[in-house]
Amino acid sequence: MSDFWQRALVYSFTIFVISLLIWAIADALPAALFFGVAMWLRIIHHLRNLAAFDSWLSNADTQEVPVGTGMWEDVFAVLDKLVKQRRKDHEQYAAALQQMQQATSALPEGVVILDDADRIEWCNPLAERHFGLDAKRDMGQQITYLARQPEFVQYLDRNVFTEPLVLRDTRHEDLVLSIKLIAYGSSKRLLISRDITHLERIETMRRDFVANVSHELRTPLTVVNGFVETMQDMPNLENDMARRALKLMGDQTSRMERLVDDLLTLSRLENEQNVLQEEQVNVQELMHTLLEEGRSLSNGQHVLKLELESDVRIGGCGNELHSAFGNLVTNAVRYTPPGGEVVLRWSEQPDGHMAFSVKDSGIGIAPQHISRLTERFYRVDRSRSRETGGTGLGLAIVKHIAMRHQAQLNISSAEGKGSTFSVVFPEKRRIPPGVGAGA
Ligand code: ADP
Repeated sequence: MSDFWQRALVYSFTIFVISLLIWAIADALPAALFFGVAMWLRIIHHLRNLAAFDSWLSNADTQEVPVGTGMWEDVFAVLDKLVKQRRKDHEQYAAALQQMQQATSALPEGVVILDDADRIEWCNPLAERHFGLDAKRDMGQQITYLARQPEFVQYLDRNVFTEPLVLRDTRHEDLVLSIKLIAYGSSKRLLISRDITHLERIETMRRDFVANVSHELRTPLTVVNGFVETMQDMPNLENDMARRALKLMGDQTSRMERLVDDLLTLSRLENEQNVLQEEQVNVQELMHTLLEEGRSLSNGQHVLKLELESDVRIGGCGNELHSAFGNLVTNAVRYTPPGGEVVLRWSEQPDGHMAFSVKDSGIGIAPQHISRLTERFYRVDRSRSRETGGTGLGLAIVKHIAMRHQAQLNISSAEGKGSTFSVVFPEKRRIPPGVGAGA
């Protein structure tokens, strides 16, 4: 305000000087007086309106727009209209924002909006609880300062969010979260968190149940099977009926044993606490063992070949890889009629990937079944699977083992012509020549 009065003084002084000049030069005192008073009144009028405008500007959000005089009346009227429109828009935005906040608060999922540097822009109350955030205090903070779990930081960095991340080690004990990031706008990201503690508990119970039941069943089955086999071999067991019954009982107990073994293997593989035993696996040796095992299973009914494109060692668990590759070889023999061919192959791909594949000239698989083959107990032909000693769990085991090695199981097949099952390993699994000794 003082600025205005200063200006008023400066303008008054200027008018006074000009009036003096008119008086001095033109020797016209009335004209000089008239000019001075008229100009001075004009300036006072503008300065008063400007002062009102200035006072309004300093509190524009709460004060009403002043009512001007003269030409200022129109200016303030237009301004008043604009301000009223702006307030109306503002109220509408505020209402929309409040509605959105109420809706996101009611969401059964935590929501955090992150900017291009992963700083928190907004979060709903559930996200506060999930990540231990305080919506007011932590605004503008980088989310990775507050949620520091390495797997979470890696997930944010990876920039590929097709699969959700399961986060166990959260700020709250026992809380298990499923996290998903969604990119939107030019560089923003929406972090969605879901409490899956309950689901995890059920899943753990299911896994424990399968493991426990399988353990409980295995011992009595082994004992019964042992007795059945011993009695079958007894030379003085005359009764043909008894021998046939024992044979049937033996087949069934063996089948149950295989089933229990496969269930236990799957349950071990699914247990996330069971980390992969990293060893150096000599591929050439493993392939020769598999060839021998395949030949022994085929019993001379098929032609089995081995093609090795390179002699490498890969990082991974030898027993698991043996089990996965063995399952594929066994299937190729089981689903290929006598006289057919089975080729075991280790190949190098131009991009550095390496693949173990088994190609057979067997019965093949119709396209509609292929995507479901790795589901537990999914079989194309149940009776054929049973007749050849299958459990329906082999490919589920192969898929799990491949995943634990960051490898991918690929299946291509043509009905009546044969199939190729490949496990493709990433280049990082290759152990360069000269590193350590083979396992
Ligand atoms: P199974 O013990 O029944 O063989 P798997 O999980 O190993 O169970 O395989 C699932 C199903 O996939 C099999 O029942 C069979 O129908 C089909 N399958 C697997 N391997 C082959 C193959 N090499 N040729 C044709 N069908 C196959």
